[in-house]
Amino acid sequence: MKKVIVLGGGGFIGGHLAKKLKAQGFFVRIADIKQHEYMAKDEICHEFMQCDLTDPRAIEEVIFEDCYELYQLAADMGGAGYIFTGLNDANVMTNSALINLNVAKEAVKKKVQKVFYSSSACMYPEHNQLDAHNPNCIESSAYPANPDSEYGWEKLFSERIFLAYHRNFKLNVRVARFHNIFGPQGTWKGGKEKAPAAMLRKASETIDGGNFEVWGDGLQTRSFLYIDECLDAVERFMHTDFIGPVNIGSEEMVTINQLAQMAIDIAGKKIKIHNIAGQEFIDKYGFNCPLGVRGRRSDNDLYRKKMGWEVSEPLIDGMRKTFTWIDEQVKKEK
Ligand code: NAD
Repeated sequence: MKKVIVLGGGGFIGGHLAKKLKAQGFFVRIADIKQHEYMAKDEICHEFMQCDLTDPRAIEEVIFEDCYELYQLAADMGGAGYIFTGLNDANVMTNSALINLNVAKEAVKKKVQKVFYSSSACMYPEHNQLDAHNPNCIESSAYPANPDSEYGWEKLFSERIFLAYHRNFKLNVRVARFHNIFGPQGTWKGGKEKAPAAMLRKASETIDGGNFEVWGDGLQTRSFLYIDECLDAVERFMHTDFIGPVNIGSEEMVTINQLAQMAIDIAGKKIKIHNIAGQEFIDKYGFNCPLGVRGRRSDNDLYRKKMGWEVSEPLIDGMRKTFTWIDEQVKKEK
């Protein structure tokens, strides 16, 4: 049985990934600072080590000698309300950078055969994402660097860590830049949830004829990739010799208001969107409306070229599947 490690397996993508690897017949060890909220331990792994990966001693214990693949997904992260307010910058940078430094060093020491690192589209320069309808997120546009958040800067730094360990110590790495991954069994409330989960929750909670808030003017654009397609893309990437960095995302771009309307239509309700920004937002929340860049969409040319495959599921299909799960959660809480 080949042995794999999923760091951050107590989280959304890591939990789904670990579950898939276990089902494929791998021995799976997860390490995370918290248990998975929605998946049982024996559903996703053989061993779950609850520990703080910012501590090098924990990493030493977690990474074993005969590791076939290690997936590094642990990061201090969340949606716009967590990353773009500036309130968590120091923690986000310190915690994630420490984890990545520890992991790269220990993976070389233990001769891990292959390491996957999940970077983020947030590392792309803000100046290429000012036009909502024409953002540029081609991999080669990363420099000169100008991410719009400290989260993005840390991702860029850590990409460089793994690539430097590849050059200097022959660490066999794969670096992917995820673009807004969503699906069931992820954070759906509490401030760390991403836009699809937030819209679907609001659509489920809001009464027919009511209204719900969308941050900003709603004309900012994004693309969203359903979790199953993300995991397929990761698997194909791991099986090539290409080390990246490469985008893993969808090219189907929507405005945030279109995303909200999609959620409302799926819920089958008549709900009005209330766009909240500027002073109205500050008066209500006490800080500036955290929006991120004006436009962002994955550019999949490089992935297509290197992997000979592309993601294809329409956004609406993933949104429907995610709504079914979030709607259940909302009803359970009532
Ligand atoms: P998530 O927050 O659900 O998972 C991250 C996990 O890391 C959490 O379970 C958390 O407990 C764990 N973690 C954080 N600090 C830790 C510590 N000190 N020690 C041990 N574990 C710790 O996030 P996710 O959406 O599953 O994202 C997984 C990875 O993909 C992250 O690196 C994230 O930056 C990256 N990413 C995600 C998206 C997305 O849309 N979901 C987009 C771009 C990049």
